[in-house]
Amino acid sequence: MSEPLVIIGNGMAAVHLVDELAKRALGRYAIAVVGEEPRLAYNRVLLSAVLAREVSRSDIELRSARWWDERGVTLLYGRTATAIDPTIRRVKLADGATLPYSRLVLATGSRPIRLGVSGVELPGVMTFRDLADVAAIEVAAQRRARVVVIGGGLLGLEAAHGLAKAGAQVTVVHLMDRLMERQLDCHTAGMLKKAVEARGIAVLLDSETVAIIGKRRVQAVALKNGPQIAADLVVVAAGIRPNIELAHGADLNVDRGIVVDDSLRTSRPDIFAIGECAEHRGVCYGLVEPAYEQARVLAAHLAGETAHYPGSVLATNLKVSGVNVFSAGDFIGAPGTEQLVFSDAGLGIYKKLVIAKGCLVGAVLFGDTADGLWYVDLIRGGGSVEPMRDDIIFGRALAERKAA
Ligand SMILES: Cc1cc2nc3c(=O)[nH]c(=O)nc-3n(C[C@H](O)[C@H](O)[C@H](O)COP(=O)(O)OP(=O)(O)OC[C@H]3O[C@@H](n4cnc5c(N)ncnc54)[C@H](O)[C@@H]3O)c2cc1C
Repeated sequence: MSEPLVIIGNGMAAVHLVDELAKRALGRYAIAVVGEEPRLAYNRVLLSAVLAREVSRSDIELRSARWWDERGVTLLYGRTATAIDPTIRRVKLADGATLPYSRLVLATGSRPIRLGVSGVELPGVMTFRDLADVAAIEVAAQRRARVVVIGGGLLGLEAAHGLAKAGAQVTVVHLMDRLMERQLDCHTAGMLKKAVEARGIAVLLDSETVAIIGKRRVQAVALKNGPQIAADLVVVAAGIRPNIELAHGADLNVDRGIVVDDSLRTSRPDIFAIGECAEHRGVCYGLVEPAYEQARVLAAHLAGETAHYPGSVLATNLKVSGVNVFSAGDFIGAPGTEQLVFSDAGLGIYKKLVIAKGCLVGAVLFGDTADGLWYVDLIRGGGSVEPMRDDIIFGRALAERKAA
């Protein structure tokens, strides 16, 4: 008889977990997936492409209804889990239904941080996390609408790009002194700013939003020591916070995220967490590749294999068409590391590789990002790159040929 396995969250981590589990232990578990969003799981990473009208909603669906059906999964989408009772091993849903489990996986993702300033509740102030947000933004951002995006990180820039492509007049307001400061060094961030501005998007750095102003709906954004910027729409992209409330209510160990060990197990042996809601060795990842790596390890574990998750190398790729930016690992360069730099202002190419004790530990690329994933593999592999040191900055083709 199959054991009941309940997965809460119908996002990217959950899909990958079901996929991996079906390959390894089809039939061992009777799987039920509970998802709050009223649709099949989709590729959240491509939301900015939907906003920019580069792809349609159906293009980003991760798996068809038939795919779920063929794997025997009970898919409960449009349903919200409201509580877990670990003593009787049941999940309660908002409509009063309860689901029994022998194993439970939390894959509840994150939600956008709401700014702590006045006016955030005004109509016309939005976030950018799911397809419902995209639909709301599309309605609000009529052609030539004046849009202020608060936050110059990856999400903010992708939202800004999507909106500008759809015909809006966009200003990005960023608190820090450079764009994407968590992923880019100063030089690359400077190149990115120029490239973004060249696409008709205004960028204000060192700018703190102190209030959102409006009577019946948003009219402007007020900056500390700065002007008010007129706005018909404000998109807040100021970071994310893991969804930990269910875990908290069930007395699981939570910190910023739901604390898990190297088996993705929470403080209860029959409850696991993966994806953006999980905190592993003090880190909550906000990217999809770590969620997939965690899903693979958990699937192996649930299938009875020995598997451990050691943590992930962070790698980021900005998806703004025509602006290629990539970074991975220690891209700044901790004290004691060496840096290899290639810069060609004419071609708009900049590459920096960080090497520690003969191994590649970080990379930041602008303009030509074709070798980004190869650099990530080298960082993950942890082997010496000394044999290809003279050529590694010029990319895989040359470096591997000459090292052979
Ligand atoms: C616009 C955008 C662009 C991005 N670009 C990139 C990128 O380029 N590269 C990258 O690596 N990452 C990117 N990300 C991040 C990436 O999408 C996430 O890391 C990934 O989706 C995490 O997967 P997850 O399954 O943990 O969470 P999610 O995909 O968020 O899934 C969680 C699901 O759980 C549901 N849920 C939450 N609570 C409950 C509940 N109580 N009951 C039922 N369901 C619940 C939520 O509604 C949601 O559908 C981007 C994100 C956004 C928004």
